[in-house]
Amino acid sequence: MRDTPAGAAFDPPISTSNLVPPDRALLRAYLDLLPEPGGEARLVALMERRFAAFHDVPHCVALVNGFWALVACLRALAIPGRDEVVMPSLTYRRMADVAAWAGLRPRFCEVDAATLAMTPATVAPLLGEGTAILLAVHPVVGTCDAAGLAALGRRRRVPVLFDAVESAYEVTPEGRVGRFGEAEVFSLHASKLVNGFEGGYVTTLRPGLARRLAAMRDHGEGSGLNARLSGLHAAAALASLDGIEAQVAHNRTIHAAYASRLAGVPGLRVVPFPDAGRSAFKNVLVEIDPARWPLTRDGTVRRLNDAGALARAHYAPPLHRKPMTYPHVPARLPVTEALAERFILMPCGHRVSVADVASLAELLAGFAGLPRGAERAAWA
Ligand SMILES: *Cc1c(COP(=O)(O)O)cnc(C)c1O
Repeated sequence: MRDTPAGAAFDPPISTSNLVPPDRALLRAYLDLLPEPGGEARLVALMERRFAAFHDVPHCVALVNGFWALVACLRALAIPGRDEVVMPSLTYRRMADVAAWAGLRPRFCEVDAATLAMTPATVAPLLGEGTAILLAVHPVVGTCDAAGLAALGRRRRVPVLFDAVESAYEVTPEGRVGRFGEAEVFSLHASKLVNGFEGGYVTTLRPGLARRLAAMRDHGEGSGLNARLSGLHAAAALASLDGIEAQVAHNRTIHAAYASRLAGVPGLRVVPFPDAGRSAFKNVLVEIDPARWPLTRDGTVRRLNDAGALARAHYAPPLHRKPMTYPHVPARLPVTEALAERFILMPCGHRVSVADVASLAELLAGFAGLPRGAERAAWA
């Protein structure tokens, strides 16, 4: 038995998934449209209009989930005759599978140690004769330099696709996420900010690309895909989008609670959201300082998990260190490898309360061998 402070065990467990339930009355109202003639198509079209307005773009195409939206976009945009997709290694764990389904080989780039994001400087040296496309991915906190990466793509004549799943609500200094590159991909999975239970969508400024993607999701353009979003999921996504401001307000409170409660625990740092612009404050990322924190990152995660707090290692192992059967370009990425040992994603989202955060801080202070309550010093 590991000794955890009394009352700090989480039952039911709390996780890093948002799991916000759409408002039931709103959901019912949208679902009432479904049985009408043409109801399903109208619901999906309404969802696409609403999400296009949310991102301030002319076109939104709904797809079955974020994964297949990425595959469809890579296939639509990759330069024919070339086979490399440049992407970060410190990213979504299924991204190499996405590349494989699109028939591309990942060439993994470094990230910036301060922002955990790829930058024009980490990407530029990897662009070459073989580059079919740049897959730019936003980090879990803040945004990448979307304008800079899009400009790099234009200069080097490489199409740029954004995975903006973790930045659906964010605004960069150059504008709202959703408008950069050729297209941007989002997810409506229950674990993400906007909950359609499943689902995804693509935003773009290009009418031709929107038409192609709409055909591709429905077996067209030789895609070999059925990647349509169902009307049920469109209804859930609409109801969730209606409630997004309340969700963001909750996330902001939770994130601030973590920041103040963990301020007094030596060796841990809550990664702040940049205060410029708009942030959803969904993810709570904690950095471990190995010189001051007594446990390894994985040991810390294990102990949290034992207490029912389903914290996770942040993007570990990085993709280039995972056993991979697909064609890929081998990489040595020292910055990524060091960063992959340091970060924890803490429980967050709709089901986590301020009281839970207080219990988590107490639990972590206990791991560090501090006297109970010592973590309160900084905010009391
Ligand atoms: C979850 C996620 C995806 C995939 O979205 P699904 O809708 O679950 O297929 C893609 N990229 C990132 C960064 C993600 O976190």
